[in-house]
Amino acid sequence: MQAQTASSWNHGVPMPCSKCGAPMQVVADQRAQGAAALFCGYCHQSEALPPDAAERVRYLQQRLALLKQARESDEAPLRAVASMRRAWIPVLLLFAALVAYQLYQHVSQIRLLQKTAPEAVGHMVAPITFQLALIGGYALGYLGMSLAYGRAVKPLLRAKPPVAAGVALRCRSCGGDLPVVRASHVICGYCSAHNLLDSQVTQRAAQLLQQEIAAYQARAHGVYSADAFRAPTKAFYRWAIPGALIIGVIVASVLPPLIALLPLLG
Ligand SMILES: [Zn+2]
Ligand SMILES: [Zn+2]
Repeated sequence: MQAQTASSWNHGVPMPCSKCGAPMQVVADQRAQGAAALFCGYCHQSEALPPDAAERVRYLQQRLALLKQARESDEAPLRAVASMRRAWIPVLLLFAALVAYQLYQHVSQIRLLQKTAPEAVGHMVAPITFQLALIGGYALGYLGMSLAYGRAVKPLLRAKPPVAAGVALRCRSCGGDLPVVRASHVICGYCSAHNLLDSQVTQRAAQLLQQEIAAYQARAHGVYSADAFRAPTKAFYRWAIPGALIIGVIVASVLPPLIALLPLLG
């Protein structure tokens, strides 16, 4: 963390070391909470920032803290999506195992009923339909959520393209330079926003720069909405509920003829 703070505040006006002349870095001051100090990585000289520079750092840190707060409240709906994305495979497997086991039991019971009490077989359609609709609805809801995430949220989480070829990518939230990493995402050293890194950032740089200008202009005119971050959760219900109903209707109409075929299978 310390190293990241050091490199992040390192841009701008050069600050030569008074002892060895090497460029000094701005680091968190060990003695005072939240304050910054100058540190030389070559001769390990450490000194306090001049009062005007210290004031500037404090001011900028405060602004970044406000920006971070606003971003975190906008992106709060994504936390539910993230926990769902982590849990969905185990949940689906558990669901599928339960449903498979119960289906097996239902089929054995139907076979028994067909021999002993054929008029009761019809009662088995409802529970089977309900279970299949539930698991199908969950799977479809997850699919809808993933599609909405890719369409609405991913573009908002992507790092901003470099302003010119060969210079650093910028943070999607604060616009600060991002460290060069080989990973699918990077955390901003200034405002700790997660930035997605994909090939689009460099391939569509010109187009993304245009979009960025348009977005800031819209925002300056008061047009801003964090609705996109709620899109995945909404999509889950929009897909899951009709999906479960449709699956329910299909299963309920297909099941009775299938049950009638059971005795023929021997
Ligand atoms: Zn030095
Ligand atoms: Zn940032």
